[in-house]
Amino acid sequence: MTRSITVLGATGSIGHSTLDLVRRNRDQWRVEVLTANGNVDKLAALAREFCAALVVCGDEGCLPALREALAGSGIEAAGGPQALVEAAARPVDMTVAAIVGCAGLAPVMAAAERGGAIALANKEALVAAGDVLMAAVSRGGATLLPTDSEHNAIFQCLAGNSLDHVRSITLTASGGPLRTWSAQQLASATPAQAIAHPNWDMGAKISVDSATMFNKGLELIEAWHLFPVGLDKLKIVVHPQSVIHSMVEYRDGSTLAQLGPSDMRVPIASCLAWPERMETPCAPLDLPALGQLTFEAPDEVRFPATRLCREAAEAGGAMPAVLNAANEAAVAAFLAGHLPFTRIAVVVEETMARYAPPAPHALNDVLAIDHEARVQAIGLLETA
Ligand code: NDP
Repeated sequence: MTRSITVLGATGSIGHSTLDLVRRNRDQWRVEVLTANGNVDKLAALAREFCAALVVCGDEGCLPALREALAGSGIEAAGGPQALVEAAARPVDMTVAAIVGCAGLAPVMAAAERGGAIALANKEALVAAGDVLMAAVSRGGATLLPTDSEHNAIFQCLAGNSLDHVRSITLTASGGPLRTWSAQQLASATPAQAIAHPNWDMGAKISVDSATMFNKGLELIEAWHLFPVGLDKLKIVVHPQSVIHSMVEYRDGSTLAQLGPSDMRVPIASCLAWPERMETPCAPLDLPALGQLTFEAPDEVRFPATRLCREAAEAGGAMPAVLNAANEAAVAAFLAGHLPFTRIAVVVEETMARYAPPAPHALNDVLAIDHEARVQAIGLLETA
């Protein structure tokens, strides 16, 4: 049976892995919408390859170039944030939400309101909007399938079990490329060093988040919404080999873990095929070759991000959206060479201390908080 699919963020790392799986199973999928921001050439090439019905670039200024690149193909093209939302609202069986950052929130909300299955990679949307997004999922009758490798692992470990039986959930963290660096070394880490992840090949923003440990903190907030067992039952352990993707401990003392190669095609395949399974080209785990799996407690002195994310979740309301926006602004400044690595967390903490708006109740509230928190964070870049 052919199913329809929309890939939001088709030109990125998750988009690439998703379309690789679709390419290997062309007879099973009809591609409805592919989106990007400004990478017009790649978007147009993918649209032609997959015979997409519609392509959308978030950057409206790129629309003329996109139309030109698609000339003669008969593929519809649109541009701008509102076009992304309208595209995400088109009915499909499966939406892969893989835009990076809060820019993906409005399209994910549109997909959630419309229903169908959503493979959610865009963690910032859930961190920023939290209850607002979960309410839209519930209203639309959508099925949210966690695509982040850790949350997909937890989802698999929970299958067939009640949350009432869960004693704890442990998110594993690779620790990133700077895990063993001293505080002094971290202060002078460059963007190239921060994005050189030892295990995963990912987009620049999440790679920096992995190096600061904000990625794990954002995932803690994501898990808090997806698996409502309470913050006190959510733990983080550093596991540098990235073989165990997360674990669930039950009240009888059993701990279930999901293991797999560090290849996002595994969790993406789990979502695309759910509740069935599908083949992937990923090499099987070779445990004797791996030899050892090791574990460490997170160091929140050198990497304060997980503490800040836990504090934002404890504060609740708007605070996770403030934290997320400040982190996005600080990471962009770091990648542009305008902010030292260790100042990312300082900017986030200062923004959280200065800006405490009331809890959001709707998408526009979240977007307004996101906007103002960025303004505050950018104002702090010079001084933080
Ligand atoms: P990439 O940077 O590789 O790709 C991001 C995608 O989003 C691109 O298609 C990009 O388009 C598009 N995009 C960026 N900004 C906008 C915007 N303002 N409006 C519309 N589209 C935009 O990111 P990743 O694939 O690494 O990550 C995507 C999401 O998945 C993130 O939320 C990340 O945290 C999450 N994730 C990623 C993992 C990974 O292994 N990569 C693992 C787990 C989660 P363009 O190419 O035109 O710029």
